[in-house]
Amino acid sequence: VACVDQRGLSVSYAYLLGIYLGDGCLTPFHRGVWKLRIFMDARYTGIVESCKIAINEVAARTAGQSRREGCVEIYSYWKHWLCLFPQHGAGEKHLRPIRLEHWQTRLIEEHPKAFIRGLIHSDGCRAINRVKQRRYEYPRYFFTNHSADIRALFKWACGLIGVESRPNNQYNISVARRRSVEILDGFIGPKA
Ligand SMILES: [Zn+2]
Repeated sequence: VACVDQRGLSVSYAYLLGIYLGDGCLTPFHRGVWKLRIFMDARYTGIVESCKIAINEVAARTAGQSRREGCVEIYSYWKHWLCLFPQHGAGEKHLRPIRLEHWQTRLIEEHPKAFIRGLIHSDGCRAINRVKQRRYEYPRYFFTNHSADIRALFKWACGLIGVESRPNNQYNISVARRRSVEILDGFIGPKA
């Protein structure tokens, strides 16, 4: 079976890679087939839909969905998920190095917004900060991941589009400068 032509991958893959690095995992199924599993908050029906559309565009197959206790699992069976997500490995992502392949780096450089959107949709949020008895309100973005490598990827991709980010606490990066938040608001916005 011929593998996926990486040159055919595009914006949907960049988005799905962000989602995968945030909330996805691969499990072996049988006969060389892998199950991609992505876990999402059931409240974000728009994000669930975006994720299923991306799977459909990348793999040309319909994603399944199961729901339990406020959480949605989106899943898809395919032989090539491992080829597309070679970051798969034993143990949790934050306990092993996460390095991109050269072709993945190139795709993110072509589509940094889609990648950042995927990361925020999985492990990020947009929050309103209120100060001085609510006289001033300003939005900020946060990205939270236990893997230093994945946090570094977020920061790097933000830098590609002129978005400034800085560590907020041990596992958390914030985007707070007005101009940077405006850039992110141009293609992400509140999670829904
Ligand atoms: Zn393959």
